[in-house]
Amino acid sequence: MQSIRISRIVRKTEVEGPGLRYAIWVQGCPIRCDGCFNPHTWDMNGGEIWEADRLIRDIEATLRSAPELEGVTFLGGEPFSQAGGLSKIAKRVKELQLSVVTFSGYTYETLQRSDNAGWHQLLKYTDLLIDGPYIKKLHDVSRPWIGSKNQQYRFLTPRYSHLQERLGSISNKLEIRLHPDGTITANGMAEPADLELLLQLGYERKETRT
Ligand code: SF4
Repeated sequence: MQSIRISRIVRKTEVEGPGLRYAIWVQGCPIRCDGCFNPHTWDMNGGEIWEADRLIRDIEATLRSAPELEGVTFLGGEPFSQAGGLSKIAKRVKELQLSVVTFSGYTYETLQRSDNAGWHQLLKYTDLLIDGPYIKKLHDVSRPWIGSKNQQYRFLTPRYSHLQERLGSISNKLEIRLHPDGTITANGMAEPADLELLLQLGYERKETRT
């Protein structure tokens, strides 16, 4: 049994990579970038524990209800801190002909150099890796899904290679959800000033990404 510490799941989102995606924010990040929009995901002991098989069943159920689902996105938190469990999910995701987008605060070069077998497994199943820590002084949200200039798109399979030339035409968006209990959550990419405005409106900061 492999379990994963989860901060948040959004089953259908259009702002966390190409197309309609099932997004998993993992809990726990050792990188701790200054200015991270999601410091609540840093605690390695926080969040909720899900078995990988339960997450797979949930992704399969989401695909049945939304056949247009394009793929799954792993973000966080640091996905490579839980690479073993996420690799199991990613393997099944690929069997379902869906894509895998993975964010990491580590650079691709660091991940490649590692002797951590789980890291290599997760890289193997990842179609698009967005790598590198968030660097506050390089803040830039002009590119889709990315928070600072140093971060890069790594097209690890041909699945999204056609996007390389089109990235400039994809704009960042924020999704805002009003829940039955009155809370508001947001995910996607926004300028800090817009997030502060949302905070003033009383939203619960859970899913923004740097
Ligand atoms: S930006 Fe990403 S890598 Fe950096 S501290 Fe936040 S969750 Fe971790």
